[in-house]
Amino acid sequence: MNIEEADIAVVGAGGGGAVLALALAQKGIKTIVLEQAPGPPSGLRGEILQPNGQRVLDQLGLLNKLPADSTRTVRRFHFCKVGGERLCTVDYGDLPPPYNRAVVTLPNVAHHAILSAIESEPSVSLRYRSAFTGLLRENGRVVGLTAKQGDDHVTVKARVVVGADGAFSKVREALQIPADLFLYPQGYLIALLDAAITLDEAKYFVGKRTILGLFPAAGDKVYAFYMIKTGSYEQVKERGLSSLRNAWIAIDPASEAIFNTLTDWKQTAFLPTGRVRTPTWVADGAVLIGDAAHAMNPHASQGRMQAMVDAMMLADLLPDCLTANDYSAGRLKEFETTRRPQVTMLQKLADEQVVYWNTANPVIACLRDRVFRTLDGNARLRYRVLSTTAGLRQSPPFGMLDRLMAAGLLPDPSADRVAAGGAQ
Ligand SMILES: Cc1cc2nc3c(=O)[nH]c(=O)nc-3n(C[C@H](O)[C@H](O)[C@H](O)COP(=O)(O)OP(=O)(O)OC[C@H]3O[C@@H](n4cnc5c(N)ncnc54)[C@H](O)[C@@H]3O)c2cc1C
Repeated sequence: MNIEEADIAVVGAGGGGAVLALALAQKGIKTIVLEQAPGPPSGLRGEILQPNGQRVLDQLGLLNKLPADSTRTVRRFHFCKVGGERLCTVDYGDLPPPYNRAVVTLPNVAHHAILSAIESEPSVSLRYRSAFTGLLRENGRVVGLTAKQGDDHVTVKARVVVGADGAFSKVREALQIPADLFLYPQGYLIALLDAAITLDEAKYFVGKRTILGLFPAAGDKVYAFYMIKTGSYEQVKERGLSSLRNAWIAIDPASEAIFNTLTDWKQTAFLPTGRVRTPTWVADGAVLIGDAAHAMNPHASQGRMQAMVDAMMLADLLPDCLTANDYSAGRLKEFETTRRPQVTMLQKLADEQVVYWNTANPVIACLRDRVFRTLDGNARLRYRVLSTTAGLRQSPPFGMLDRLMAAGLLPDPSADRVAAGGAQ
């Protein structure tokens, strides 16, 4: 059995683990990253870099290095009713520069940029085909881990083990941290289509138990996100491509030419959605980040961004822990205490959006559409929602009075007023 040593051992090189490894490498901290996949991901997934994620990539020196032919700036998102009626338009240009835009990338582009930057860092060793199998403990504290690397068993002694291994985290399980893992009854069929007609701005349709998002991507491509029942992907496929295209044409007749470019199921994938709540993210010598600690519904548009922000904050704390030789849960808790308020707020907000946006109930749908229309005419409330989705707010976008105003039950004397300097 191989025994290796590192300052930090990271399990999972996904959205959070890869950023953590690179940020630690840039601080010269010896890190081993174990990833069970055989190599960088290649599957289809929609990628929207929100302003807070752009800031992280900028801090890592990568934002301006993303290949221009794989990224697309999108400023305006139109929320519409099924059939086409526009309800509300959100403009990222209202946010403070320089991150006053959404960046839509082709699948895995940002992730590949992070992984290849890691490969050139001498203080980090990234191992694929390495699956976490258990924790090493001494006197009740975590002092490393075991893994299976191909056919070999590996032991890594580390001062801190980071579980960045996603919603079904095995590290969390080994730490015996109880998790409330909820799988939503709806997930997303995602497709990469051709922009047969120009689509410069994003469209997001809501109806009775219907959601379809169309986001322009680089290379004259368009991402479609279509909500379907979890477990129904095979049935959707059995009904055939034309049935799916027709369902989309009924939702947005203006985009028929785009939908007609869906000609192969290989252009599609199904992404399930889940939420994780845990009473703690830390133990003596170990910490959880990203989905392992707090997966959230994608309505927040923030799951991966929050994993990245976790990584940056932890990378700021860990050098102090190394200097002080203190890896106790109490010391690591600083990270959790700082991060938990925003994450909890986003989880709650996304769940509220599930109630209103995913609804099949006509009364709730009517209230939802009414709120969208109010937001369209209310710059203050619209900005609150936008800055939350952009990852710039720590506190909930609406208080009780704001909710009544959003529902159109109270007038808003400050409807035209947006706080100067953003993020309010
Ligand atoms: C439909 C959908 C849309 C989404 N849209 C957005 C969006 O617009 N914006 C956004 O910010 N987020 C979005 N997300 C969320 C985002 O994908 C996740 O929140 C993000 O990937 C979490 O990063 P992570 O590093 O915590 O976990 P992951 O990215 O899941 O990475 C975990 C890694 O750990 C590895 N691993 C697991 N177990 C082991 C093991 N035992 N040993 C070694 N390695 C292991 C896995 O292979 C994986 O590489 C969306 C999610 C879904 C489902």
